[in-house]
Amino acid sequence: MMSTKGTPGTPTSPSTSPAAPPPLRPSASPASPASPASPASPAAASPSPSASASPSPSATPAPFDTDVLVVGAGPTGLLLAGDLAAAGLRVTVAERRAEGRSNLTRAFGVHARTLEQLDSRGLADELIATGTPITDLRLFGGLSLDLSRLPSRFPFLLITPQYEVENVLHRRAVSTGVDFRYGTELRGLDQDADGVTAELSGPDGPATLRARHAVGTDGLRSAVRSALGLPFPGASVIRSIVLADVRLAKEPGHLLTVSASPSGNAFAFVAPFGDGWYRVMGWDRRRQVADDVPVDLDEVRAIAREALGTDLGMHDARWISRFHSDERQAPAYRSGRVFLAGDAAHVHSPAGGQGMNTGLQDAANLSWRLTAVLRGEAPDPEALLDGYQAERHPVGRNVLRSSGAIVRLAMARTPLQRAARDLAARLVGTVRPAAARAMGQISGIGVHYGPGTRRVPDLKLREGRLYELLRAGEFVLVTPEGAAPALPRTAPVAADRVVHATWANPARHDTLLVRPDGYTTPL
Ligand SMILES: Cc1cc2nc3c(=O)[nH]c(=O)nc-3n(C[C@H](O)[C@H](O)[C@H](O)COP(=O)(O)OP(=O)(O)OC[C@H]3O[C@@H](n4cnc5c(N)ncnc54)[C@H](O)[C@@H]3O)c2cc1C
Repeated sequence: MMSTKGTPGTPTSPSTSPAAPPPLRPSASPASPASPASPASPAAASPSPSASASPSPSATPAPFDTDVLVVGAGPTGLLLAGDLAAAGLRVTVAERRAEGRSNLTRAFGVHARTLEQLDSRGLADELIATGTPITDLRLFGGLSLDLSRLPSRFPFLLITPQYEVENVLHRRAVSTGVDFRYGTELRGLDQDADGVTAELSGPDGPATLRARHAVGTDGLRSAVRSALGLPFPGASVIRSIVLADVRLAKEPGHLLTVSASPSGNAFAFVAPFGDGWYRVMGWDRRRQVADDVPVDLDEVRAIAREALGTDLGMHDARWISRFHSDERQAPAYRSGRVFLAGDAAHVHSPAGGQGMNTGLQDAANLSWRLTAVLRGEAPDPEALLDGYQAERHPVGRNVLRSSGAIVRLAMARTPLQRAARDLAARLVGTVRPAAARAMGQISGIGVHYGPGTRRVPDLKLREGRLYELLRAGEFVLVTPEGAAPALPRTAPVAADRVVHATWANPARHDTLLVRPDGYTTPL
């Protein structure tokens, strides 16, 4: 999707590798291009926590090499793999890239709900130290959103490069024992009642890997999605967006600004990384060209002058690129034992900065479900796994809609459309509930999965903060003092794994069961 021109400012930093993993079984024949997996058959959930310990009841030829194969080590795959390994599962990550991390960044904004998820893993402070918190969003038509009003421990948007998010998640995944296979590409995937067989092509040639489950976190052109035979319907929503990471002679301060030109021919956007570098993006209706048409800083400057009234004296671009944006969503996030998450499941415009954030929330929703099923703790494994699609697919659809709406507003062509946009912006900016809804949606704080499945804020409990207790990766049962903690029989967790806590507020007499991803479970 993105063509990259120019050179990065610093070389890629190597990442640590885990202890030597066991070799994969070489394939009898070279791996073929992604072959369609078996049609969506209901996964017979495995009751055994140790994949290779329990013999399969079917005629499965090979033992399991791993519990879960995660394909793709972007942010989504890294969070998922770290969660599963922290829960004691065997996890293999196949990543096509060579080992090491790029210092080019696509995403640069981490929203409040994502920071809450990272806090529930003890990673938020480390990430926040790498970036700049922004509370003031200046959008079109004078719309200004004050994120400091968000009801969260993290009432801001953290501007930090995507590679910092990946570094934090990668370190955690390595420390929890994830087996990373770099330079290893998924070529084909098949599944049966017991597991998944992946055809990989790695540094030592083709190899086969057998896992109980597989998750495609392999981005826009997901080979897992292709292997499942799933379509990726949608279309390009905007072409010829230019991007530059630059220094500015005139610093606009610590706020994120989006502005459209009065003529409606251009819009631009500036965000500070906090270390003297700024991300500038722009679009000009009159210059709609293919991604591979070269872009230089003069083109970006001209768009900025038209949309913002100034080019802010931009100079020293360390990265310039031209790209287009698609809006697409897979119709299913689950097919039997195989799942899709992140960009493999949904892509949309960068407006609203939600792609990486949505992928990370997908991973947080899927990891505890797979954990419960693989540990044999789910009373109804099928329903638990289907819950991933039921909860996350509508969220993905909404993100497509909202980011698409922002882009279409930015591209408003006629004076009437622009007037309507500016009026809508003023209304959202001045009507408090509308502003709160917009901020809740963009930040993820307002995303709930239904009346009984709501996001739980960082409650004060006798034993500490809720998000600190969630770091165990388990359910947290909060009861009034003196009450005997009792789990419902339908809870997908073994009683001896639940973390028990007591309300700090003695006036609370209710009982709350909080899922590992920080949402309530109906009792
Ligand atoms: C200009 C721009 C700005 C953006 N800004 C934001 C923002 O501010 N906030 C935000 O939330 N999002 C933003 N996004 C979107 C964000 O970058 C993506 O949503 C995010 O990277 C998706 O993460 P992922 O882990 O799902 O996939 P990816 O990051 O695409 O990772 C997929 C991984 O899978 C690997 N892979 C692919 N195929 C195979 C295979 N066959 N076998 C093995 N490995 C494979 C790839 O090498 C890659 O490492 C932006 C995107 C763009 C283009």
